[in-house]
Amino acid sequence: MPALNLPVDLDEFLAGHTQQLIDFRRDLHAHPEIAHAERRTTAKVAQRLMAAGLRPRIMSSGTGLWADVGTGSGPLVALRADLDALAIPDEKHVPYRSTVPNVCHACGHDVHTAVLVGAGLYLARRATRGVLPGRVRLLFQPAEEVVEGALTAMGEGAITGVDQIFALHCDPRFEVGQIGLRTGPITGACDKIKVSVSGPGGHTARPHLTADLVYALGKIVTELPAALSRRVDPRSSLSLVWGEVSAGLAHNAIPEEGHAAGTVRCLDEQAWHGAPGLLDELVSSVASAYEVIPEVEYTRGVPPAVNEAVSTAIVEAAATQVLGPEAVAQAPQSLGAEDFAWFLESIPGSLVRLGTKTPGPGGHRDLHQATFDVDERAIGVGVRLMAASALAALRAGNAAASDHLADVAGV
Ligand SMILES: [Zn+2]
Ligand SMILES: [Zn+2]
Repeated sequence: MPALNLPVDLDEFLAGHTQQLIDFRRDLHAHPEIAHAERRTTAKVAQRLMAAGLRPRIMSSGTGLWADVGTGSGPLVALRADLDALAIPDEKHVPYRSTVPNVCHACGHDVHTAVLVGAGLYLARRATRGVLPGRVRLLFQPAEEVVEGALTAMGEGAITGVDQIFALHCDPRFEVGQIGLRTGPITGACDKIKVSVSGPGGHTARPHLTADLVYALGKIVTELPAALSRRVDPRSSLSLVWGEVSAGLAHNAIPEEGHAAGTVRCLDEQAWHGAPGLLDELVSSVASAYEVIPEVEYTRGVPPAVNEAVSTAIVEAAATQVLGPEAVAQAPQSLGAEDFAWFLESIPGSLVRLGTKTPGPGGHRDLHQATFDVDERAIGVGVRLMAASALAALRAGNAAASDHLADVAGV
């Protein structure tokens, strides 16, 4: 396979494509679609990929798609973008402002989509020239904001046979040109819990003859968060916060039912896996002391996104090659949830922060704000990073496969 100077080759590709990619992003920005409704966005991406000779497969819902670049039996690396916008108004004054009332690309998924289209076109060009050492799957998932699209995509086979997966997310804490990396958990988990209790009810004059349900529920509400902090490593930041409590109708009647509901957040994968069982046990022990019957409904949201070390090292090497060593920074772990975590539960990979802030004072606009926007130079940076990461991962996959063959052959 002929050697190519990757940074120079990317420079040449971006010189001819950056404006198109910016225009593509602006079109998506002006026509945002919320989770599960990304039909136009899906069609626009599919058109662009087909024009480059790729054969996208649209998911059965009509939202979300993927396309493979390259052929053969080499390693298969996936790059993932998300398509959906948020149900908030766009309060910016720019020519590409949202034309849809109360829907806005305020999380930068339009940027992720444009970046992945750009990286896909570049990789397709390499495949045509015979300089792609494997296969790359371009995966555009729907419904990230409601943390549902990744599991739907996986259910349709989006990562079947995929060896490694990479994604990036806009991050206005970093300046454009910079990327943030982190090995281990980079986002947090968020689940829902509802505890219901029931008992025989009775007169408030005689709690000893029945089960004092409101008192028992109060004990559960106060003791559960406290007990968690004594049963789990504090570094996991497993926390339970109640948002809703209700029981009873009359001041002098002990009710038969009551419930409390809240969220369970966590920074650590192991603690996240253990949380439902532990909370069940704690609820049972408090409830039994007051003779009420508990029922726990635990609803999984999304686990922490845990970046695998080797994949993160691959991104770092790729970023150093095509962006320079000064571009790479350490990313802090965020308490926000990210649907990409589901992919990382199944296969190794890494989620990278893409700097979008224009250098200089002021102008900080956070994700999910109605005025959020990016420095569009981030699109070119993202294309470099994603394309180079995919190529580095393919090369690493090929090297691992040939080592394995050498082992098998006893060389
Ligand atoms: Zn978001
Ligand atoms: Zn997002």
